[in-house]
Amino acid sequence: MTNGRPRVLVLGGGFAGVGAAQNLKHAKADVVLVDRHDYHTFQPLLYQLATGLLETTAVGHSLRDLLEHHDNTSVHQASVTSVDLAAREVRFDELDPLTYDYLVFGLGAEVNFFGTEGAAEHAFPMYTLPHALHLKDHLIERWEAADRDASLIEDGALNIVIVGGGPTGVETAGALAELYRHDFSKDFPSVTADQARLILVEAGPELFAMFKPKLREYAAKALTDRTVEVNTGALVESVSPRRVTLKSGEELKAHTLVWGAGLQGNELVQSLGIELERGNRIAVGPDLTLPDHPEVYVLGDVAAITDAKVKQVLPQLGSVALQSGEHAGEAIAHRIAGKEAKPFEYKDKGTMATIGRGAAVVQMIRGRTLTGRKAQVAWGTVHLALLPTNEDRAKAVVDWAGTAFTHQRAGRITVPADERETG
Ligand SMILES: Cc1cc2nc3c(=O)[nH]c(=O)nc-3n(C[C@H](O)[C@H](O)[C@H](O)COP(=O)(O)OP(=O)(O)OC[C@H]3O[C@@H](n4cnc5c(N)ncnc54)[C@H](O)[C@@H]3O)c2cc1C
Repeated sequence: MTNGRPRVLVLGGGFAGVGAAQNLKHAKADVVLVDRHDYHTFQPLLYQLATGLLETTAVGHSLRDLLEHHDNTSVHQASVTSVDLAAREVRFDELDPLTYDYLVFGLGAEVNFFGTEGAAEHAFPMYTLPHALHLKDHLIERWEAADRDASLIEDGALNIVIVGGGPTGVETAGALAELYRHDFSKDFPSVTADQARLILVEAGPELFAMFKPKLREYAAKALTDRTVEVNTGALVESVSPRRVTLKSGEELKAHTLVWGAGLQGNELVQSLGIELERGNRIAVGPDLTLPDHPEVYVLGDVAAITDAKVKQVLPQLGSVALQSGEHAGEAIAHRIAGKEAKPFEYKDKGTMATIGRGAAVVQMIRGRTLTGRKAQVAWGTVHLALLPTNEDRAKAVVDWAGTAFTHQRAGRITVPADERETG
């Protein structure tokens, strides 16, 4: 208790943490949100930042801005180092420990390289804002280098291997194809498509395992039409700065490997001393609290939430994280007010992914499917709704509309980190 009011400590300013904080606005509590960054990352659009379609501020949003009208809330930038459930205390790297009455654990997931040799050092994952900017800078650097020294093209400087046939890999491959075939082919007219290959590698027999067969076929064709080479049933064995080796022994010349293949719950879950589910996720009850800890809500990507209706663990999606966060915020506010909290009920808006301009897939809960432009409009509508503010929605619409008319990706410039200090 602080000033006689309970303290709600929210760890993580992702969809889950922000959703919870937003619904605590009127609670008689002191709400403290801590994230290692001072911004909220809109992960579903990271690949658009990496390919110059969107600007940084359309994908990252100041957490202080998002919560500025919350008089009961403070925001701190610090990294969580451990959580002591018994003492109800959280420790940080550069912030004094904080005790809590209610804890919202929304620290998300992190990339899983499944022990692939060289991947941690040389692969480009697509999970954070710095990851997306790093990939964009690297691609532009490789194209400019190859422009100065054509022998680099022969060495695979412009080739990209994208690992993972799920939504992250497919969406990234589609966006890279548009960047390569529309923008870079105009910027560097002497480079032909076969000198700048895009190769999607998926271990399973097909792309988009979570979608119906006709949507899988649609996605594979849409990628092939966009000159992406789809290589299913193939595993990456090792990665070095200029080569990717497959388990079959085939060596691909590529200076870039984008990793969109796997996630695991935030490593901090290991320190909680509780049993974990597959992928380092924490199983929660129907009210989203930890068994034996009704004061601790675990949400979003790090939680294994079982849908009461279909008795299945919900996927790691923005809509699950946001709805679970909103539910926890409302439940805590109710409990502080002495009211009863209801169990969580997930409202499924469909599973969807976009492959490129005019190409997307949507699968609704009752089995209805959409492809093409209709699916892309549905995808745009759902993702605009997930963006945290109207300002972000406006920015995304302006950038998308600009690209639709001009095919230009204005964000494809780079300001090298080492030049930022000297000007
Ligand atoms: C490339 C990509 C594309 C995606 N596309 C879609 C899509 O199209 N549709 C969809 O619904 N979902 C999509 N998702 C999934 C969706 O983005 C996630 O499910 C959602 O972001 C999870 O929200 P969260 O709040 O649980 O975690 P996160 O959004 O990951 O938030 C966790 C927060 O915790 C902070 N944090 C982590 N560790 C620490 C620490 N030790 N100390 C302090 N702070 C810490 C992080 O900085 C972060 O802000 C995509 C994900 C990715 C990576």
